[in-house]
Amino acid sequence: MKKILLAVFLIVFFVSIISSQPELLSRKNYGINWYHYNTENFKIIYNKKVEASALKAGRLAEEIYSKQSEKLGLKFKKRYKIYISNIDDIPNGFTTPFNYIYIWADVSNYSTILTGYDKWLKSVLAHEMVHALIMENIKGWVDFFFPGSILALPREINEGFAQFYGNENWGAERGDIYLNLAVKNNDLSHSVETIDRGKLLYAKGFSKIKYLNMEYPDFKSTKLFKYRDFFGFFNWEKSFNKNFPISYKTFCNNWEKYMNVYYNWREGLSERSAELGTKIKNIEAVYIKSIKKNPGAEGFAFIGKKSKNSSDNRLYYFNQKFKKIKYLDSGGLTGDLNFNKSGTKIYFTKRHYTSKKAISTDIFSVDLKTKSIEQTTLDCKASNPVIVNDDLIFSKNNKGTMNLYNLNLKNKKLKKITDFNNKFQIFDININYKFSKITFSFLDPDIKKFGFCIFNYQNGKLTKIFTENKIRYPLIFPDNENKILLTVFENNLRVNLFSYNLENGKHRRITNQSNFLKAMDFDSTDGKILTIVQESRNKNEIFAVDKNRIPKNYPGKIREYYKKWLEIKTGYSFNNRNLKTRREQNKRYNHALHINKKLILPYPFNIENKLSGGFVGYFSDDIGKNTIITYLGYNHKDPINSNYGINFIYRNYFFDIKAGFNYLDFQNSDYLNKELMERNESYRFEISIPIYDNKSFFNKSEWGLGFVDDKNIVINRDIYNDGLANNSTINLQNLPEGYNARKLFFKYYSRKGTFYKNFPDNRFDFFIKIDLSNSFFGSDYNYEKINLSTDNIIGVNDKYSIRLNFNFEMLSGEIAPQNRLGLKYKKSNSSIDLFSGYLYTSEPTLRGLEHNIFNDKTLVQKLEIRNIINKSIMGLLFIDSGAVWDKNDYEILNYIGIEFKFNFNIYKLAAGISRRTDKLDEGYNYYWYIEPRKYLINMFKNIGG
Ligand SMILES: [Zn+2]
Repeated sequence: MKKILLAVFLIVFFVSIISSQPELLSRKNYGINWYHYNTENFKIIYNKKVEASALKAGRLAEEIYSKQSEKLGLKFKKRYKIYISNIDDIPNGFTTPFNYIYIWADVSNYSTILTGYDKWLKSVLAHEMVHALIMENIKGWVDFFFPGSILALPREINEGFAQFYGNENWGAERGDIYLNLAVKNNDLSHSVETIDRGKLLYAKGFSKIKYLNMEYPDFKSTKLFKYRDFFGFFNWEKSFNKNFPISYKTFCNNWEKYMNVYYNWREGLSERSAELGTKIKNIEAVYIKSIKKNPGAEGFAFIGKKSKNSSDNRLYYFNQKFKKIKYLDSGGLTGDLNFNKSGTKIYFTKRHYTSKKAISTDIFSVDLKTKSIEQTTLDCKASNPVIVNDDLIFSKNNKGTMNLYNLNLKNKKLKKITDFNNKFQIFDININYKFSKITFSFLDPDIKKFGFCIFNYQNGKLTKIFTENKIRYPLIFPDNENKILLTVFENNLRVNLFSYNLENGKHRRITNQSNFLKAMDFDSTDGKILTIVQESRNKNEIFAVDKNRIPKNYPGKIREYYKKWLEIKTGYSFNNRNLKTRREQNKRYNHALHINKKLILPYPFNIENKLSGGFVGYFSDDIGKNTIITYLGYNHKDPINSNYGINFIYRNYFFDIKAGFNYLDFQNSDYLNKELMERNESYRFEISIPIYDNKSFFNKSEWGLGFVDDKNIVINRDIYNDGLANNSTINLQNLPEGYNARKLFFKYYSRKGTFYKNFPDNRFDFFIKIDLSNSFFGSDYNYEKINLSTDNIIGVNDKYSIRLNFNFEMLSGEIAPQNRLGLKYKKSNSSIDLFSGYLYTSEPTLRGLEHNIFNDKTLVQKLEIRNIINKSIMGLLFIDSGAVWDKNDYEILNYIGIEFKFNFNIYKLAAGISRRTDKLDEGYNYYWYIEPRKYLINMFKNIGG
């Protein structure tokens, strides 16, 4: 059924690659009303719930723009669009190459992303606006086809500009931690092999642009971003070399030297990690985000990454008695966790789809014995759980302001404990081991200060303490309730442990080291502080630090040297409220009326057996609700029969509709390498309903129902038949000149993230499709066809996984001969087949088979033992086994072989060698093919924050 799928290949490929929106925006965005208004330079598009923020955003945007455009010497050429939504609780924003920024407003815990003290909307707008200004100004002719210019600007430089000119503060979380470790580990690479690559990329960029401003305080970016080479392309390095007295290479060397001196000097005046306390053995991970000791048993719960290959943070339990680590959950874990008093359950925060199809955080619990996971709070932007008796205490975000709440787990009553307002932010809620007092840290963006709070659970008293330094993870001493342990970001740079005396307000230093650490818990048995220490980029350790220890002090000063560094700023602020008035009234914003061009890609077509030119166009509104994919392939011999197609995808809250018309040449199937060309005229309509899983982003399913009307003409029938006449092994009769095929189809697809061990790819896919073709619909052939397939990847460890694939197809009735079922050989690619990779799982191919074998029923089973050699190469050993049969006849084939898959750029190249197990005299078979990779999605967006 390749002809019908061809249009789908195009749709699937372009939608998943170019339209990043369905990946980023939750379904709820399609089900709400949007409004808009214009200011002088901006169009603000927003949903009703966030109206107050949206009205402010226009004024803020104008103010930020006036400052930044002057400083950078860059301007927008036309009115720029800013989307504001609070549907999803995602502390982020992104800038697209398509003239718009998208910002999630009213988010929780944003200061862990941006280290400024400003309110989120202002900070994120200032950051994204820099991206937008740069992106719009480096565009050239190539961007008419494809947003390619932005790829010529190194991402670290892009992020560096955004952080610096977005007025962010250089500090521990925004740079220092990551650059410090990279310098000390003598490894500044941010390759995909490293666990902290994203954060380090931001850190390097930020410090480079800071350093550039230190060396050349008066430079303007206008010329830097207006540079174009001979072919009209932007090129960062060439532009830099032209606009500065030193080359970019020399500049980078100078920058590296400056950073080396600072960090090594700082390290020389600090304690070694090994001196801090005793290392807790057996908890080994490349990254540990948080850890808590079980108050009821010998063990620890921790969230982190055990392997460099891990794609996200996972929740583990380490049983100290049996030295065993147990996997509990993954997907959307934010990092906070706490035990109940008996130590039987862990409560943790998870980002997930709510029942209303938005993305939110909620508190989940996992039972250590049964491993069963339950959602405790319901769709309420909740995080930071602690448990006292039957009460769950947590923070809840309401329109950007966070407060402490109490949910009684028995009677389900929810009570608000605190009364903070104006976007107050709460983090790091902890409870002392007596379960009487709660501590948490906060950011008060109104007065731009961090601090910490103590909440006495027994008498309801709340004490708020402001601090000059940034404080995280406050903990009450086990033996003295007047003493608090604090993780202090000293001048927002070095991070150390201090104790704080509530009676006299005095700090006492406990550590004097230079790396990042965080105090997570007290070991109540010996009063030691459970501390995560990061001494290496790819190794985190847990230390038990004595709270009474006296730190070592080293003579010498580094402050003067680095003070200069911290003082390099943009020289402007966004506080003077020079605000423009609105020019237009708010109006409803209909996305269907704002579909615009996203891409026009030149694209090769195979028309009447000749390679021919053409293009694929992709048009969409900015949130991906309405999408049009169209293409044109020029037929040199017969322009009237040029190929074209138009396909439409509409998404709403409940379902997707796909409809299209395609007039297209395609290669139907290969019989002994003789290409059969058909021209297909098809109408297609499909409705599908996606089902969301509230517990995991990994799980998804979809029901679909559709109708296809095909009219086919065989183009090279005579040549083809002549070719076949010479080969008696091919059993094909009565190849029609043309035929009509009309069919109704039903499909169901589901994916489950199965039990995880270490491997990033564990999953189980199930797919069923039933086709019904009948003369009643006007079809020339009556048949029913069933395709059932499963695809299962089981992780063994970080390096190895096993893949099991089953594909069963059954036909009853009659079908056009060229569409018969059978075992297919894995074809090397011609131009258009590049896209078939997307439906690879439903193709009953055998690696090694030299020609197709047809019959009414086929079963293909594949077993692969896969070895991840590194992020760009995977090796696999496979056994492909196929059976093809009907009432009278059957054939079974088995192949064994080795395959390598190489990731390069946007494609995956596979090459292999195989041999038939029962007919060794057939010798070896070599093959190769190309598939598109899915990671392209990330190329087109610029995740801010
Ligand atoms: Zn950014």
